[in-house]
Amino acid sequence: MEKNRCEKCGKILENSNFCPECGNAISEIAQTLKQENEINVKLETIRDMIALTKDVETLRMLKAYAKNILKK
Ligand SMILES: [Zn+2]
Repeated sequence: MEKNRCEKCGKILENSNFCPECGNAISEIAQTLKQENEINVKLETIRDMIALTKDVETLRMLKAYAKNILKK
């Protein structure tokens, strides 16, 4: 059986997507999920900021930032 080692804490893992020790994303699937989750969190934050902002320039900047995140 192939063994993976957590890059963060060095714990040896067997068939784990996430390190049980530090929560680091181990597998490719886990890393993709983590990235998607981070993007979603960022977009949610931006959405909240857009809802609260009345300044036109700031709104424009936030929307451009959101578009930029989605491109990646
Ligand atoms: Zn770890």
